Amino acid sequence: MLRSSLLYLSRQQRIFDFVKNVGFARKMASRFVAGETIATALAAVEQLNAKGITASLDLLGESVSSEAEARDTGRQYLEILDRIEQKKLQANVSVKLTALGQDISDELGLEVVRQVLDRAKQYNSFARLDMESSAYTDRTLDTFEHKLYPDYPANVGVVLQSSLRRTLDDVERANRLKCRVRICKGAYLEPATVAFPDKADVDRNYVEAMHRLMEHGNYPGIATHDELIINEAKRFAKERGIASDRFEFQMLYGVRRDLQEQIVKEGYRMRVYVPFGSQWYPYLMRRLAERPANIAFMAGNIVKESFSR
Ligand SMILES: Cc1cc2nc3c(=O)[nH]c(=O)nc-3n(C[C@H](O)[C@H](O)[C@H](O)COP(=O)(O)OP(=O)(O)OC[C@H]3O[C@@H](n4cnc5c(N)ncnc54)[C@H](O)[C@@H]3O)c2cc1C
Repeated sequence: MLRSSLLYLSRQQRIFDFVKNVGFARKMASRFVAGETIATALAAVEQLNAKGITASLDLLGESVSSEAEARDTGRQYLEILDRIEQKKLQANVSVKLTALGQDISDELGLEVVRQVLDRAKQYNSFARLDMESSAYTDRTLDTFEHKLYPDYPANVGVVLQSSLRRTLDDVERANRLKCRVRICKGAYLEPATVAFPDKADVDRNYVEAMHRLMEHGNYPGIATHDELIINEAKRFAKERGIASDRFEFQMLYGVRRDLQEQIVKEGYRMRVYVPFGSQWYPYLMRRLAERPANIAFMAGNIVKESFSR
């Protein structure tokens, strides 16, 4: 109930217009978002790299409503890739096709994402197509498979969500292509017709998808903070003789930092997804929906910090 309310609020632009200047909300966001500019995001990446953690930079923002916005987002991604290359950072990028104009027209989305991928290819870098709600699954996977992957096999990857009933079929499709997949649980509220309503089923489906990707896929990104699943990945890798450089763990900026560092110390690869930008509200609400206890936790910290000043 609380989760669905928070996810509902995440889609209300008018509420964001109201909270974006409220200091308390901005402080909450700063736990999960690496500032509003490329400079603050790169500084966060430098700190992660110093701990042996790689990054994927995400310029926050979802569906754009004008061509100019889509092209501007594309330009900012080119700048991010340039800066990563100049500073020799261990980082790639994550993009949402709707932020690059896909909802305005498929042609525009494709043109802008290809500009980003051309630049990624120039630097031997990589762009991950984030997965949005189930309304976009087919479009995203079809665009990926038929229009992008053939030209950029080493520079583009997709995301699959274990909450969706279709996902094991998509895993098989991805394994046949030998493309890079990030497997996550899925952050969107979905109807039971397409997604498992029970978390136990989502988790079971995650483990099955992860096993298949680890054994037959191409360098999967295991994106979760779920320790049981992370331990299962380590166990499975040992059992099947899968070397630790054939997959990577991925987590979100600001979530389970202790576990991120521990995983690196154990000799596994760890990539942190680093979101930044002014459009932080829907992202923050999705993170709070995943763990409503965060609201009390962060509110407590903010009050403590305010009193200790
Ligand atoms: C690198 C990365 C990329 C992602 N990309 C996408 C994407 O493209 N599309 C998409 O739909 N979703 C994406 N997600 C989000 C994902 O789908 C889940 O919503 C999110 O990761 C929470 O699920 P979980 O696997 O951590 O498991 P859960 O079962 O939700 O959580 C397991 C444990 O992790 C901890 N935890 C989880 N979330 C939080 C939090 N917000 N704050 C504090 N602790 C927490 C808690 O201890 C919890 O008990 C991504 C996640 C990651 C890590």
